[in-house]
Amino acid sequence: MDQPSLEQFRASLRGELIQSGDPGYHDARKVYNGMIDKHPRLIVRCVDTADVIYAVNFARENGLLVAIRGGGHNGGGLGTCDDGLVIDLSRMKGVHVDPVAGEARVQGGAIWGEVDHATHAFGMGVPCGFISTTGVGGLTLGGGIGYLTRTYGLTIDNLLAADVVLADGRLVKASAQENPDLFWALRGGGGNFGVVTSFLFRLQPVKTVYAGPTLWPLEQAADVLRAYRQFIVQAPDDINGFFAFLVVPPAPMFPEHLHLQKMCGIVWCCTAPPEKAEAALKPMRSFGKPAFDHVGPFPFPILQSLFDGLYPPGLQWYWRADFVKEISDEAVARHVEHGSRLPTMFSTMHLYPIDGAAHRVGKNDTAFSYRDATFAEVIVGVDPDPANKEKITNWCKEYFDALHPYSAGGAYVNFMMDEGQDRVKAAFRDNYARLAQIKKKYDPSNFFRVNQNIQPGG
Ligand SMILES: Cc1cc2nc3c(=O)[nH]c(=O)nc-3n(C[C@H](O)[C@H](O)[C@H](O)COP(=O)(O)OP(=O)(O)OC[C@H]3O[C@@H](n4cnc5c(N)ncnc54)[C@H](O)[C@@H]3O)c2cc1C
Repeated sequence: MDQPSLEQFRASLRGELIQSGDPGYHDARKVYNGMIDKHPRLIVRCVDTADVIYAVNFARENGLLVAIRGGGHNGGGLGTCDDGLVIDLSRMKGVHVDPVAGEARVQGGAIWGEVDHATHAFGMGVPCGFISTTGVGGLTLGGGIGYLTRTYGLTIDNLLAADVVLADGRLVKASAQENPDLFWALRGGGGNFGVVTSFLFRLQPVKTVYAGPTLWPLEQAADVLRAYRQFIVQAPDDINGFFAFLVVPPAPMFPEHLHLQKMCGIVWCCTAPPEKAEAALKPMRSFGKPAFDHVGPFPFPILQSLFDGLYPPGLQWYWRADFVKEISDEAVARHVEHGSRLPTMFSTMHLYPIDGAAHRVGKNDTAFSYRDATFAEVIVGVDPDPANKEKITNWCKEYFDALHPYSAGGAYVNFMMDEGQDRVKAAFRDNYARLAQIKKKYDPSNFFRVNQNIQPGG
């Protein structure tokens, strides 16, 4: 990479090229997880598709490793790399809502809060995750599990088309009609196939949801988890609620005597009308002796951003995850044992239901394989203090090791750290071979390899 070609590249961009040593480099290289400390050689803050094409071509011609950064939230830090070029999409945030067609076009660097804001005005939304600060790009391409999964399916079940810049610099469309193999692979296969500059989503009716947390003391956790595993799979699709072990944050929403108490809970999100939701939730909300129950009407974007303040960028995060078909009594016991030992106030364990509408898509219909799992389990050790890195990591690994034997075998790619090829294959099961063929067709040199990597198949 010589200086004249670098200058020529800079001049071709409408966005910004940041090099190590430039003012602002230190801030520009940061990602959400404070545990990740990588030093890319170049960061390109693209503002349009042309910038993305120039960046892909420049990296390819100069043999540079490429990382794609959407929202920068990836736990394993897959939105950045050492010594390579980061295609940073964070300036490409446009959201265009077409209420008549019931569709939203979203640029590849938007975060979910921006989509919620734009769609809520029309009483519509795109099924996404559980926090508004996550990137649309990474979350969607891995599958997208969230508050509305049981009602409207995964995020990818609401994806209609994507514009993709391939490794050779061509821009192509992927949809059911155009490049359907690529469209299949994008729905779960992550950032393996190219840079998605824009997503086209089907909108769903969602405005005010009946939502909020119910919390129980830890002594009731085994009974609550046993009741929950039965309750949720029998609940109608418009009832969503994830189970958690958590430490009650010292926030005004919670009574002071509960602050910093370790508890278990369910966070609800129902699209059913309030009376119907109230009746449907009653058996669970009145189960045992809840210590706190704060369920009522929430504008969807407010629910989505409930945890934003608790989890600002820069905290230390260590993740482990698995899909789960059934939660046996032994698994309940292991959960209570490890969930009772949350190492810090920010650490947590969530069990997200992924049945309902998400089960009505076949396990080979999209690259996302685990349509037969009932829950996505995620264990996260989190703390602001780097000195607690080992403490949160060890707790997370021990919890995972204790529960892994009760799992379906693989994990949701978006909840994985850098865990090696076997874990990537376990995430895709029999879809891996087809993904490898599609990778070979669209990215034969494995140019896009800073991801949960699918290797071009022979
Ligand atoms: C606090 C927190 C909460 C979360 N909650 C949820 C949740 O509720 N549901 C859920 O499903 N997941 C959740 N996740 C996981 C999240 O989906 C992944 O971390 C995801 O990778 C984040 O996407 P991003 O664009 O922000 O990440 P980035 O770090 O920017 O990118 C991650 C990966 O995605 C690829 N990528 C990103 N954008 C593009 C693009 N436009 N084109 C091609 N490739 C792209 C990159 O190659 C990279 O490998 C959460 C993560 C965090 C940290």
